[in-house]
Amino acid sequence: MPTIKDEFVRRHGLEWPLNNQQIGAWVFIAYFALILFGGLAPNVAVRWQALAFFGPGILFGVHAVTLAVCTCMDPADPAVRYDLARPTTIDRSQRKHVIMNQECYFCQVRVSSTAKHCSACNKCVSDFDHHCRWMNNCVGGRTYKLFFVSILAGALGTAALFALLFYLLIALHAFRDSDHLHLSPDRRDLQVLGHDVTDAGMTVLLVVTIILNGLAAFMLWQLLTFHIMLISNKMSTFEFIKKQRAEEEARLAAEAEEEANPKNAATPNTRCRAFRDCCSARSNRVGPSGGKPMEAVEAQQAPSPP
Ligand SMILES: [Zn+2]
Ligand SMILES: [Zn+2]
Repeated sequence: MPTIKDEFVRRHGLEWPLNNQQIGAWVFIAYFALILFGGLAPNVAVRWQALAFFGPGILFGVHAVTLAVCTCMDPADPAVRYDLARPTTIDRSQRKHVIMNQECYFCQVRVSSTAKHCSACNKCVSDFDHHCRWMNNCVGGRTYKLFFVSILAGALGTAALFALLFYLLIALHAFRDSDHLHLSPDRRDLQVLGHDVTDAGMTVLLVVTIILNGLAAFMLWQLLTFHIMLISNKMSTFEFIKKQRAEEEARLAAEAEEEANPKNAATPNTRCRAFRDCCSARSNRVGPSGGKPMEAVEAQQAPSPP
């Protein structure tokens, strides 16, 4: 029997316990900020320094600010209250779903037709998209646009940082002059955090940062393209995962039927039935943004972020 602790309701992403991925994201952001402003941009030739500072700086700044705002905002359904006694278990023989007829069993309030009860936050969220481990908070109707701006700015920021990193790597090893780097008769070495560094040391720093930026770029661009696909298909992450599950269940059911009736395996009827089952599963889905009442939302099946 699923259990949700009644004593904990997450109002925002800074509430304890923090998530390891959330901590990792801010360690990355802090590292990039330190390296960008303390070790990369100051070594670019003076005439290009404004571009080196403000290009990646503004993009990562927008990414960090929107990420922080999304983390601190409460995307809960407006009807959700936190001072009510909550049942700790749900009796499936009496109640099949957490939300029935827009009444949430755990929140004990009438919620909007687009709400879903997140088991990680233990509250109903309007226009639920997904529970984001990077923010330790839900992404819902209130925060989705900011969330999208955050991943867009972050992805573009990694591209701008790549440009700066490779510029410095090439300028250091191919030219090493004051036309490309911040060098002068009084400043013969590059500097990191105000201290002179050797070319070998700078090369190591650049390569390490290229690898770390590559990891960040992989995650952010993957997330960005996924959400562009969702927006273009007018779907939420939650709807997408439910669609995937329904298709997988339909496929498994078709395979089981083929195994049980091998003679019918290749017949058109079997294929038609599998196709019909799949379509039926799709048509029965009612998602947070579908405009129809969301009658059945499972508390224990909050989808993981992509
Ligand atoms: Zn609820
Ligand atoms: Zn959540």
